[in-house]
Amino acid sequence: MTEEIFRFCDEYGPEKIIHFANPAIELKGILVIDNVAAGPAIGGTRMAPDVSVEECVRLARAMTFKNAAAGLPHGGAKAVIFADPAMPLEKKESVIRGYACAISEFTDYIAGPDMGTDEIAMAWVRDEIGRSVGLPREVGGIPLDEIGATGFGLATAAEVAQEFCDVTIKGARVAIQGFGAVGKHAAQFLIERGAVLVGASDSRGTIANPDGIDVDCLVAHKEGGKPVADYPDGQKLSCDDIIAVPCDIWIPAARPDVLREDNVGQLDCKMVLQGANIPATLEAEVKLHERGILSVPDFIANAGGVICASVEYHGGTETSAFATIEEKLRLNTRAVLMDARDEKLAPRAAAIKLAGERVRRAMSLTRWG
Ligand code: NAD
Repeated sequence: MTEEIFRFCDEYGPEKIIHFANPAIELKGILVIDNVAAGPAIGGTRMAPDVSVEECVRLARAMTFKNAAAGLPHGGAKAVIFADPAMPLEKKESVIRGYACAISEFTDYIAGPDMGTDEIAMAWVRDEIGRSVGLPREVGGIPLDEIGATGFGLATAAEVAQEFCDVTIKGARVAIQGFGAVGKHAAQFLIERGAVLVGASDSRGTIANPDGIDVDCLVAHKEGGKPVADYPDGQKLSCDDIIAVPCDIWIPAARPDVLREDNVGQLDCKMVLQGANIPATLEAEVKLHERGILSVPDFIANAGGVICASVEYHGGTETSAFATIEEKLRLNTRAVLMDARDEKLAPRAAAIKLAGERVRRAMSLTRWG
């Protein structure tokens, strides 16, 4: 039994796994605080019906590594709420406020937005317990999804990564799985740099057009509440077909483990730029490396959002957030890809080496480290 409970533990964590529930408001969830050696943990709050303890543990670890790699004074954590994010707003507010009360005593966790939650949800959390990040401007926040902090970071990482593979951003064909906050801003920032969007998907389907999709029109179409597959200018495909759309840069920006051993062979690209957290299994990462596809790991490439959250938490401005994201993403992407090339490692192994060293150094400076 003890072994069962502690099956997730290794040298870094997790430090705490908390289950919470409140049947009166249909609240059920998990908070995993992985490691706080560098400071109070920042990590997103995900609302989805089909999450698990294991997924939450892996996502919390990704945050420990992401925050350490970015040199932030924060550890890693993640929370999940088992619910449909499309529930009526009034009900969602009561679930989120109940969630905030449930995590209130765990002061070494600072909640941020994630899939199924947003700036408004973070404002409700702060209203209840006085702490959260990714807040609306009206309460002093830097709305990281609205400004596209993560998408900007992805485009910055791509600019560096092009030097390590046979891709030139200007003219590069980009396909994006998940045209939400991360996906649409990654498209916009990459198109500004001369790339062409040739495919995009959401949970209801895929639109593909080798001649290029007008990103601003697709964003307006999606913001009108319509699925991307109903966009008139392109070929309508199924949700899973996005994986085989021929492109130079393929960006997962939706769910975990979308690239697996059984489907990674369908990719027809030169670079995978990981927008989503843990979008590929370890076996899939190995296959990507064997095929010579450059895979820029999630906790390096998609750190823009948490860097923005940290700048907000420490009283910085939107301008300083963008400057910090650019500086850190350039440095870290280059450091990881150079080490991978020089040491003949898969980029994920080089990224874990860099982040792991930083976490261990932070741990050595704490009483129990
Ligand atoms: P979001 O909810 O705004 O968008 C997610 C999109 O993915 C939606 O368009 C949804 O329809 C689509 N989707 C869901 N299931 C899909 C499927 N099976 N196939 C294709 N599309 C599907 O979420 P987001 O904030 O853009 O986050 C996306 C991913 O990026 C998540 O893994 C999140 O953890 C990660 N991430 C987000 C940020 C951030 O700043 N928001 C930062 C780092 C990492």
